[in-house]
Amino acid sequence: MNVLVLNSGSSSLKFQVIATDRDRIRDHKDDRICRGEVEGMGGEAIIRFQHRDERSQTLTASLRDIAAALEYLVRYIASERSGVSEIKTTADFNAVGHRVVHGGEMFKESALIDDKVLQGIEDCIDLAPLHNPNNVKGIQAARELFGKDLPQVAVFDTAFHSSIPEQAYLYALPYHLYRRHRIRRYGFHGTSHRYVAFRYRVLRGLTREHTNIITLHLGNGCSAAAIKGGSSVDTSMGMTPLEGLVMGTRSGDLDPAIVSVIARKEGLSSSEVDTLLNTQSGLLGVSGLTNDMRELQAELKEHDDRRVRLAIEIFCYRARKYIGAFLASMGGADAIVFTGGIGENSPDVRARICAGMEWAGIRLDPQKNQDTVGREGKICAEDSRVLVYAIPTDEELLIARDTVRVILGEPHPS
Ligand code: AMP
Repeated sequence: MNVLVLNSGSSSLKFQVIATDRDRIRDHKDDRICRGEVEGMGGEAIIRFQHRDERSQTLTASLRDIAAALEYLVRYIASERSGVSEIKTTADFNAVGHRVVHGGEMFKESALIDDKVLQGIEDCIDLAPLHNPNNVKGIQAARELFGKDLPQVAVFDTAFHSSIPEQAYLYALPYHLYRRHRIRRYGFHGTSHRYVAFRYRVLRGLTREHTNIITLHLGNGCSAAAIKGGSSVDTSMGMTPLEGLVMGTRSGDLDPAIVSVIARKEGLSSSEVDTLLNTQSGLLGVSGLTNDMRELQAELKEHDDRRVRLAIEIFCYRARKYIGAFLASMGGADAIVFTGGIGENSPDVRARICAGMEWAGIRLDPQKNQDTVGREGKICAEDSRVLVYAIPTDEELLIARDTVRVILGEPHPS
C-alpha cells in the first residue's frame, strides 16, 4: 500500500510516501519512497523533495494554500521528474495518513476519516485553535484531490496519552471547569513517545506490558512522558503544548499568576501574553539570541555568553526535574529514552540532563553518549541501574503503519 503521510501546518506541508502493508510491518520492511516539505504556502513556496536514493530537488512555485500545495506535490511525485517509479498517477496512492494535533477526549486511537470523524476533529478546534484548522484543511484538500473513496486515517498527537489517569490529567481547578470546558491535561507528541517506546521494547526484546520508561522528546517542542506497562501514565505538556519543559520558544511551566502580572505591567492583552509565552520565550527568550540549540551550543563554545549558558542550563535543569518527578510518580523506571532533534543529536545536552542523577541509578557512558548521534544506541554505563537510550523518532512511519492497520481493521499493537 502506498501511503501518503501528511503533516499540514499553517504555512508548511510536510509529506512522506511510505509503502507498507501487513507483511512489511511484521518484517520491519516498510519502504520509504520519498519525503519532503512545502514551505511558504500562501505565496512563492519552496518545495524540497528527497527521493529514497538521497537524490534531492528544490523547486519553487506559487501555491496559495494547502489544496494547491497538495495538488502540486502529488502531480510532481507522479511525474517522471520525481524519479518515483512506483507512482505514475494519483490512482497509485492507496491511502492518506494525517497527523492531527488534537483529538480531545473523543479520539483514543487512530481513526478512519468519515464525515463523523471529520466533524469530531472540527469540534476539537476549540482546544487547538492554531493547529486543528490546518489539519482539517489538509484532510479536505486530500478528499477533493483523491475523491471520497480513497481511505484517509487521522493519527492524533494526543491519543497515546488518553490512558493517563484522572489524578494526573485533572488540574486542581473548580471541577465545573473540566465539566463545562474539558479543561484538563491532554498531552502531545504522543506518536513520537509511542514510537520510541515501541523501538525500545524491540531493541530489548520486551513485551509491551514490561515497558516502564521515561521518554524525553527534545526538539523545537519538548515533552516528557511516563510510560508504565506500555501506556502513558503522565506527560509534561498539558491542555496545550505550552506546559512542562523549556522549549525553543515556549516557556514551559510557570506560576500562572505571572500571566496577569505581565499583562498588567506590559499593557498586553491575554492573547498577546499567550503569544509571548509560546513564541518569544524558552531558549529564545532567555538567550535573547535564538531558539536553535545547535546555534546556542556553538555560541557557548565560542563566546561563553552568560545568557546562552543560562538558557541551556535552565533547559537541562527542567528536564532533569521532570525525570525525578516521573521516577517518583511511576515508582521507578527501567530506562530513559532521548529523542527529537536535540535528544537524538546532542550528547552535551543529554550529559547535562543526566548529570548528578547517579543517586537514582542513572549513569551515562561518556564515550557511548558522544558516539551516539542521529542513531539508535544505548548510552549508559554498564553499571547504570536505569538504562539510557537515544532513539531517533519516526512519527511518519507510525502514521503510515496506523493507516494500514486502521484500514485493515487491525488493533493497535503499540
Ligand atoms: P526537531 O524539532 O525535533 O526538528 O528539533 C530541532 C532542534 O534540534 C533545534 O533546536 C536544533 O538546533 C536541534 N538540533 C539538531 N541537531 C543538533 C545537534 N547536532 N546538536 C544540538 N542540537 C541539535
